[in-house]
Amino acid sequence: RGLTKHFTASTNWFGRPISHVSAVDDVSFDLKPGETLSLVGESGCGKSTTGRLLLRLIEPTAGTIRFDGRDITTLTGTALRDLRREMQLVFQDPYASLNPRMTVAATLEEPLMLHGLVPPGKRKARVEELLNLVGLRASHARRYPHEFSGGQRQRIGIARALAVQPNLIVCDEAVSALDVSVQAQVLNLLKDLQARLGITMVFIAHDLAVVRHISQRIAVMYLGNIVEVAPAAELFARPQHPYTRALLSAIPVPQPGATRQRIILTGDVPSPINPPSGCRFHTRCPFATDLCRQTKPATETTSEGHSVACHHWRDLPAAAPLPAESDS
Ligand code: SF4
Ligand code: MG
Repeated sequence: RGLTKHFTASTNWFGRPISHVSAVDDVSFDLKPGETLSLVGESGCGKSTTGRLLLRLIEPTAGTIRFDGRDITTLTGTALRDLRREMQLVFQDPYASLNPRMTVAATLEEPLMLHGLVPPGKRKARVEELLNLVGLRASHARRYPHEFSGGQRQRIGIARALAVQPNLIVCDEAVSALDVSVQAQVLNLLKDLQARLGITMVFIAHDLAVVRHISQRIAVMYLGNIVEVAPAAELFARPQHPYTRALLSAIPVPQPGATRQRIILTGDVPSPINPPSGCRFHTRCPFATDLCRQTKPATETTSEGHSVACHHWRDLPAAAPLPAESDS
């Protein structure tokens, strides 16, 4: 609730902050047990920062985080370490996050030892179980990260996250570095694991097309704000926020001959240092008015489970729905 994170951008002669980056500003959302919620937006929109705030890897400037009914915003020490077992992060670049000098077995055993989860005699079996879970073989346990492809390394990263049997996994651009065909395989794996293990997942990506089939709900972020949240199918069928529409209109239409109204965004994403007044999207929005430039729009519910932060969502021209796409 009200999650806010400012980073100091510059300091004066005395080391006092004189400007800050408003990375995440007053972000509120719920995460339902067992669902996948995707956070989507261009780079710098605050999605990774939001993920790290949830995991308590960085401290919020303001706001509260409740997990499983408990306020975890200020947990420290042993309580924070116990919490780490329940929430895990899967990184974008598994190669950078895997120790090149550790075998896969050692990589997967480390969290088990750290949290005292599996007795030494049972660790080997647990490692094999984890490898099977992510579609790798027991014989892979003896190998080193450089012996694997990008997709396989990401499977190892996922296995490592699953080792401690977490309730929540945050996947930060977990497939962005992979080839499209490998992306699909890893997405299917995550979707399958999430259903089988009942894990709650926050999936962070810059591409709406990537998250379409994996998410129950999607939250669109722009410059540190959540501008729209909706169930995945609803967001694709009835996008309300001009920014969401622009993101959707940039996805290529799969059917030959099909056309779609495109919203082309002009200009770059403004700097999160001194972000625009009012609606932060007003500098790029084709529908902006004086009201938008002056006043920050409130978040309004447009239909069950669908909310949007835009002054003019009621008056905008109806968005052309995206053509239905086969489940690929
Ligand atoms: Fe555009 Fe105004 Fe809506 Fe912001 S509030 S998205 S500037 S129409
Ligand atoms: Mg990021």
